Amino acid sequence: MDESAAESRLLAERAATAERLESMRAELAAVAAASAGSNLDDEHDPEGATVAFEREQLAGLRTHTERHLLDVDAALYRLRDGSYGTCERCGQPIGDARLEALPATRVCVTCAAARRAT
Ligand SMILES: [Zn+2]
Repeated sequence: MDESAAESRLLAERAATAERLESMRAELAAVAAASAGSNLDDEHDPEGATVAFEREQLAGLRTHTERHLLDVDAALYRLRDGSYGTCERCGQPIGDARLEALPATRVCVTCAAARRAT
């Protein structure tokens, strides 16, 4: 595994994720401001329900993206302590192709499949 390539991939992933998170936060703030301003009743106004749904979707996406950012940071940390690229479940190498596609992953493809199945 090429560590400097892995590091630049992770740093690029980190920058892109942070940017996505920033725009999601702005969008959420805009949705919150819009619904506060219009004084919609979430339960009885159909438009209010749509706004609430949209806000929920956005909040879910934001949580997912925040988690991903933590994963990228954890991967950068593992790169420094030398455990990057090793599956945390079975201890086998994760493999370059998988690391290229998913630079922040913690597990090999076999363990990922096993985890999804259970
Ligand atoms: Zn594994």
